[in-house]
Amino acid sequence: MYPGLLGEPFGFKHTKTCLDGKVAIRLLAEAKEAFPMEYSALLTGREATITGHFPLPSATPSSVAFSWDGPVFLRALRAIQSEGQQWLGVLHSHPTAPPLPSLADREGWHYPQLGYWILGPVQTDPQLKLYQWTEGRFVERPFQLLGHHSSGSAIRS
Ligand SMILES: [Zn+2]
Repeated sequence: MYPGLLGEPFGFKHTKTCLDGKVAIRLLAEAKEAFPMEYSALLTGREATITGHFPLPSATPSSVAFSWDGPVFLRALRAIQSEGQQWLGVLHSHPTAPPLPSLADREGWHYPQLGYWILGPVQTDPQLKLYQWTEGRFVERPFQLLGHHSSGSAIRS
């Protein structure tokens, strides 16, 4: 349906997944704006490097889960493709909880080739974690924050 749209950020043996520090700062700012509701966004870029994001409003705003409207999600995918970018992952916030996958996270994610990012707790001590769904569970993966000096003060990884 969308050839080449799904990237493979974990598919590069010698390259860690990278996240542009400027994108990280925007994600944290937007997650704080959404507080106390969960915030979610599609992460975009090329190969293993995330250089953009696409905020997705939750179909049913909640402080403990997120879900997307089918047509809104498909529109976002089309926009990503028309910009020549790849979909590399999803980020959502845990407004008041640490960035550990919840039961809803484990049951709701079915894209093992993409990154699953969790940011939380948003207001007090935001930490960013990257997971990959593999063999029926989430495994934490390392990543590199590009331009870390500028974003390191805002987000711990
Ligand atoms: Zn979650």
